[in-house]
Amino acid sequence: MKPIYVTKSFLPPIEEYVEEISKIWKNNWLTNQGEIHQNFEKELKSFLKTNNITLFTNGHLALETALSEIKTKGEIITTPFTFASTTHAIVRSGHKPVFCDINMENYTVDIQSIKKVITDKTVAILPVHVYGFPCDVKALGAIAKEYNLKLIYDAAHAFGVEVKGKSIAEFGDISMFSLHATKIFHSIEGGILAFNNDEYKMKFDLYKNFGIDGPESIVEVGMNAKMNEFQAAMGIVNMRYLPEQIEKRRNISEFYDSELRKIEGIRVLEREDNIKYNYSYYPILIEDKYGLKRDELFDLMCLENIFSRKYFYPIVNEYECYNYLKLNPEKETPNAKYVGDRVLTLPIYGELSIDEVKYICDTIKKLKK
Ligand SMILES: *Cc1c(COP(=O)(O)O)cnc(C)c1O
Repeated sequence: MKPIYVTKSFLPPIEEYVEEISKIWKNNWLTNQGEIHQNFEKELKSFLKTNNITLFTNGHLALETALSEIKTKGEIITTPFTFASTTHAIVRSGHKPVFCDINMENYTVDIQSIKKVITDKTVAILPVHVYGFPCDVKALGAIAKEYNLKLIYDAAHAFGVEVKGKSIAEFGDISMFSLHATKIFHSIEGGILAFNNDEYKMKFDLYKNFGIDGPESIVEVGMNAKMNEFQAAMGIVNMRYLPEQIEKRRNISEFYDSELRKIEGIRVLEREDNIKYNYSYYPILIEDKYGLKRDELFDLMCLENIFSRKYFYPIVNEYECYNYLKLNPEKETPNAKYVGDRVLTLPIYGELSIDEVKYICDTIKKLKK
């Protein structure tokens, strides 16, 4: 078998991209809200079904911008079972991260555990639709309302996901999507804030362009986080292939489910009927009955040319850079600690063949002790 990596960025037919970027040569307009940017924004707005969206050069700066808009600096409750960006955005926007635990059904935030850490300093909740599995959006909406907290979703993994026919972006005050090359849908690098509040639209557009309101009017201490025309063009072209990519991944995911469920000690996630998934990641847990530890399986799989990832290990409250917060993951977030120590995300991408998926499943079967 040729080496199989955890993901492979999607690239559209080059001719289609060239045709789209030829507008850049025609207009001589490379960035700053050009024609392609405007078209992309319009298309995404109708796809995500929110009144407004603002495009960014990447997802992280989009998230930092959303959190900066919370002017009372305080505690933001979040999950440690995520990518570094989520917590870094809290800290970099002047807030303090407070970690709640995750549930064992889909590894998103545990509702009861959020309630336990709410204090009078809490200003917002920042849950993550991790692996594209939606959080309990109904319960979260209720908590945010009850305690008067902002609810901002890290939806970096959740582009294209729907809950009971509603776009995932319709929940909470703001959702951030990442359009990074490794994500299910990408614009090389890119990020989106999706929201309904019209006042945010003006502000976010200003923040991403130095707060410049006009040639002689600078009204906010903004920065530079603009999406350029080449990125927007990649997004526009890739949009055409999204349904096909999701469908291919659904097939792969279902094949994994059926094979891996049969192996004792391998835990796969269950899916719900009223959710439209995007199948962006395929996580499994390696539990005691498998006979090997996660790290042992990971190393042995590498020898068989299968390069999975320990996503997300270490969990964020174990990061060295957060030692100063004096956290205790084992005690404070036991589920996240358990999952972080046992999780592997297996290769999944549109072009991965079922033969390769079968080879991966057979290898996991073969290696079991
Ligand atoms: C990818 C990712 C981000 C950051 O997005 P970028 O576009 O890479 O800046 C934030 N949160 C999560 C959970 C991610 O996976």
